Amino acid sequence: MSGAEEAGGGGPASGPAGAVPAGVGVGVGAGAGAAAGPAAAAALGEAAGPGLPDEAGLAGARQLQLQEAAGDPDAPPKKRLRAAEAAEAAAAAAAGSGKLEERLYSVLCCTVCLDLPKASVYQCTNGHLMCAGCFIHLLADARLKEEQATCPNCRCEISKSLCCRNLAVEKAVSELPSECGFCLRQFPRSLLERHQKEECQDRVTQCKYKRIGCPWHGPFHELTVHEAACAHPTKTGNELMEILDEMDQSHRKEMQLYNSIFSLLSFEKIGYTEVQFRPYRTDDFITRLYYETPRFTVLNQTWVLKARVNDSERNPNLSCKRTLSFQLLLKSKVTAPLECSFLLLKGPYDDVRISPVIYHFVFTNESNETDYVPLPIIDSVECNKLLAAKNINLRLFLFQIQK
Ligand SMILES: [Zn+2]
Ligand SMILES: [Zn+2]
Ligand SMILES: [Zn+2]
Ligand SMILES: [Zn+2]
Repeated sequence: MSGAEEAGGGGPASGPAGAVPAGVGVGVGAGAGAAAGPAAAAALGEAAGPGLPDEAGLAGARQLQLQEAAGDPDAPPKKRLRAAEAAEAAAAAAAGSGKLEERLYSVLCCTVCLDLPKASVYQCTNGHLMCAGCFIHLLADARLKEEQATCPNCRCEISKSLCCRNLAVEKAVSELPSECGFCLRQFPRSLLERHQKEECQDRVTQCKYKRIGCPWHGPFHELTVHEAACAHPTKTGNELMEILDEMDQSHRKEMQLYNSIFSLLSFEKIGYTEVQFRPYRTDDFITRLYYETPRFTVLNQTWVLKARVNDSERNPNLSCKRTLSFQLLLKSKVTAPLECSFLLLKGPYDDVRISPVIYHFVFTNESNETDYVPLPIIDSVECNKLLAAKNINLRLFLFQIQK
């Protein structure tokens, strides 16, 4: 929110672009002063290079990257072109044509979060714009509160079928300069990805000794200084062995999961089905959202799945953190205990990201439902995607364990 407002308020090119490289220079100087070895001094020369020309700002930095790349036979032409483009953009902005951009920011921004939309843009039937993130959030919140979702501006009803994307706005936004998330300088969108990935002095990097356990994360312009002073390469073999052991362990856990899935796949009795969770409300005084699938048959038994949000927290709509948990219920009678492993994965038509977790339960006639277990969705954003949808479509795998 504040990002867009700042970008709209301050002069886009002259202000931030001029100020930041100076800050970068100071940062490097202070860091190198602390670690005053000869290697650090050499590192300083290298790291401070692109940050030096304060006044020239963006164009100057490009120029230097251009010179740096001179040794690389196939990089220069491209870089020269990009540098020229960036210089042009900076010059144009300084000459005052940036004003239109500023005006466009407030015209094209999401009416909910006031940021410039990064991906899809939706509009209500009266034309109010919402970025995809805010749109999904509004739908998910409405689902939790059992209300019809409405446009925050005009209160007209919104839904996936009532709102459409606005391609013209999406394209217009992609033509506008946007801010680097690390150094806050403005770049044409076409250059931004490359800048954030490869060129930004403030981008987050990791120590090259990460492989032997160095946990350091920090801005690129501090990387050389850190690596010169990093304690990890001087650790003894014994110390390293301990660190590597720990790292191996987490890797092993992941391998175990996949190995156990593989071994489950060799079982004689495997069943899977697509399941559709539908939203319902409890009939408590304060009704709560829950999900339930229709009965389905797998491995010759009848089952139902239930799911709930934030483990039935009182007001999940007040929390930013969203989770789903689920329960598997056996609906038919069994003559002997039924030992099963089960696993929920994403359905064939949904794009939610779920990491596989295998659960285990012995079903009998007396104990025919599992506890609620977490549905391992990657994060709250993914969870909101599921809540915003009409139904939740997943795929259930059941493995019957026979001894
Ligand atoms: Zn938004
Ligand atoms: Zn509206
Ligand atoms: Zn940057
Ligand atoms: Zn390190």
